Amino acid sequence: MRVPNPSAEVAQWLQAAASIVALTGAGMSAESGIPTFRGGGNGLWSQFDPSALASADAFRADRALVWGWYLWRAALVRHAEPHDGHHALARIAARVPKFTLVTQNVDDLHERAGNEDVIHLHGSLFSPRCFACHRPCGEVTLPDDAITRPTLRLVPPRCRHCGGYIRPGVVWFGERLPVDAWCVAEKAARECGLLLAIGTSGIVHPAATLPLIAKAHAAKVVEINPVATELSGCADVTWRSTAAQALPALAEAVAS
Ligand code: NAD
Ligand code: ZN
Repeated sequence: MRVPNPSAEVAQWLQAAASIVALTGAGMSAESGIPTFRGGGNGLWSQFDPSALASADAFRADRALVWGWYLWRAALVRHAEPHDGHHALARIAARVPKFTLVTQNVDDLHERAGNEDVIHLHGSLFSPRCFACHRPCGEVTLPDDAITRPTLRLVPPRCRHCGGYIRPGVVWFGERLPVDAWCVAEKAARECGLLLAIGTSGIVHPAATLPLIAKAHAAKVVEINPVATELSGCADVTWRSTAAQALPALAEAVAS
């Protein structure tokens, strides 16, 4: 169903549901100035080939290029701020009995807006680990000019446990999701009464199956995205708006 301003109806579902899941994707951070991967014309992939940078093979082939690219992305996030939609989502979370925020984003904008216990299905730009022994190791130290240098080349530091190279703490193409994060997200999707899919293209699996799981268990599914996606067909409401516009309207409707 498509209605011009569904905030009142979605707010009613939100108030009626004992448990709510929000699944966010790159579009959630777009209005904070972090480019998405697809859609909107500024996708990161229009400038860089993901298969050349976001995989273990790419790291083996040219770790200085990959490490440098991730430092640039981390610098973008450090210079960005959560927008009105992030803050509104934190207010919504505080008002409902059980709220599970599942993100595919590797930034920390939800946390900085006040959401706690965010489930990061695809890891984080700020939790590096060892490529060899997989242990968490070290911190992300950004060169002063990282933000201006998307093609920065920098040899990654070494692991203090085994001497291996440090890699970004994100889930690369071809890698499995963190098991604990996935189990919590999948269970929450099964048990929720409402799932909000915000700023995700619905292409990357298994994250994109969460709305389908929720729907199969009789939850309402609401998509917030300016354009149609793979998930639109399963949504009870497709809210053609941006995260920074729709979520404050929803928070207001919930509060009134
Ligand atoms: P995606 O790039 O595939 O899709 C982004 C979606 O957001 C598109 O459907 C687009 O129409 C929508 N969108 C664009 N601007 C929006 C806005 N202002 N409000 C609402 N929606 C908007 O992203 P995805 O579905 O998250 O999947 C791809 C992968 O991208 C994920 O694995 C994620 O880890 C990674 N990623 C993360 C970040 C980040 O952490 N900020 C940035 C880029 C990519
Ligand atoms: Zn190690």
